[in-house]
Amino acid sequence: MVEQTSVVEEPTVADIPEVADIAELDKLSDVVVPEALKEEATQQDLRHRDFPDEEFWREIPAFKGVGYEQFMDHKFQLIRSVTSPDKLTEIVGELATPEFVEDMKAGLRAAPMNVRVSPYLISRIDWQNPYDDPLRIQFLPVASKRLPEHPQLTLDSLHEQHDSPTPGLVHRYPDKVLFLPLDVCPVYCRFCTRSYAIGGDTNQVEKVGYKYSPERWKKAFAYIASRPEIEDVVVSGGDAWNLAPIHLKEILSTLLAIPHIRRIRLATKGPAVMPMKIQSDRKWFRTLVKWVDHGRKLGKEVCLHTHFNSPNEISLITHDAMQELFRHGVKVRNQSVLIRNVNDTPETMRLLVKKLSYMNVQPYYVYQHDMVKGVEELRTSVGNTVELERHVRGATAGFNTPLFVNDVPGGGGKRDVHSYDYYDSTTGVSVYRSPNVDEQKAYLYFDPIDLLPEEGRTRWSDASQHDAIIKEAMKGSGLSDLEPAR
Ligand SMILES: *Cc1c(COP(=O)(O)O)cnc(C)c1O
Ligand code: SF4
Repeated sequence: MVEQTSVVEEPTVADIPEVADIAELDKLSDVVVPEALKEEATQQDLRHRDFPDEEFWREIPAFKGVGYEQFMDHKFQLIRSVTSPDKLTEIVGELATPEFVEDMKAGLRAAPMNVRVSPYLISRIDWQNPYDDPLRIQFLPVASKRLPEHPQLTLDSLHEQHDSPTPGLVHRYPDKVLFLPLDVCPVYCRFCTRSYAIGGDTNQVEKVGYKYSPERWKKAFAYIASRPEIEDVVVSGGDAWNLAPIHLKEILSTLLAIPHIRRIRLATKGPAVMPMKIQSDRKWFRTLVKWVDHGRKLGKEVCLHTHFNSPNEISLITHDAMQELFRHGVKVRNQSVLIRNVNDTPETMRLLVKKLSYMNVQPYYVYQHDMVKGVEELRTSVGNTVELERHVRGATAGFNTPLFVNDVPGGGGKRDVHSYDYYDSTTGVSVYRSPNVDEQKAYLYFDPIDLLPEEGRTRWSDASQHDAIIKEAMKGSGLSDLEPAR
């Protein structure tokens, strides 16, 4: 093992006082306050500022005796992660009923993703009501909630493998690429778009597998270096949180050395899963900050893209970790997936957006849920997303208002969810164009069938109607001369 600390220096913060100078406010004490135009905000309106600070994990039987120091150690979080129903029982004991554990076992047999949930997340689940809990919904499958797949669904619906010049590198857009360095994450999300690759084989899916491989990485770097039009690299799941500091350095130092690379994003679910890594894995943190600083000196951006979906993923530990990144000049943006019963109401989405903004995490995207195997009950309709956007825009600063996008099946890339050429809320079909990806194609998305009105459900239940439904949508969009992407 190469010792890294000698080359990585502890970052320093400029000599700025920790607290604001209250005396400044004394100057305002004599002023007659102008009459208010708006009603004063209630406690409820300001609840995005509440960050749970108690030792919440002590409610979990196996963590009753775990002190702050131990819980804050990312290695503890890794070692005690739940990776099977038996491990869950071992940790939460009677908090999970035998019925729930059986339901989860059956759910796992049919799931395309393995299970991995950190003690942090396990402790944030409401075990009095796990079925409705937004974290349980994201990470622990249960058979009883399962819905039949949509007939138009395929594995790798985004055609990532089709758009890969070399394994683990997706080149879809003209000036940006997606690099997948690993096949492991600090958590496995049931709804992962990359269930074709991430997290080890399951009963359902034999994975492509993107392990750390110097040869594979070098091929990806050489391709990027050979294409002068590429300015932007997204380093995504498998997760940057799982990169050893030396590998993080390898990726960032190589990419920053390529003259035409201007922007590098490290995408990670880590801050939502084990935020304490920022405080306890100083080697990883210092490596990150060092290369962010190095990039800045070169006039290039290296930033972090997080993946918070629920306000319940956020505690005071998260707040402190995100502020630590902010103080060290690491730009953080967030990409959420829109998930039924997790964040699909205006109240929850507004709360999430305001909480993120309060921690200096900029809400960037909210994704329409991809058409992924085994998670039909998690998807929502395009119509719901459009309505949700109306209720979020205007609630806070425009630059902290996420763009609601649909990463359309068939590899069309991300489209503003409003920008469809056609949408039929009865059949649930929406049609998009993506001229920067392929001008000749139309891209279709399909709402989950169980949310359609009866007429739509009846039509989809008859297989002989399916082609007609798609033809109708193409005709209705006025794009009949384009080819529907498959
Ligand atoms: C999302 C994505 C990107 C980055 O897109 P932005 O809209 O710039 O965030 C790049 N390549 C692929 C294949 C992607 O899926
Ligand atoms: S963290 Fe990202 S890549 Fe990993 S399982 Fe979740 S969605 Fe997939």
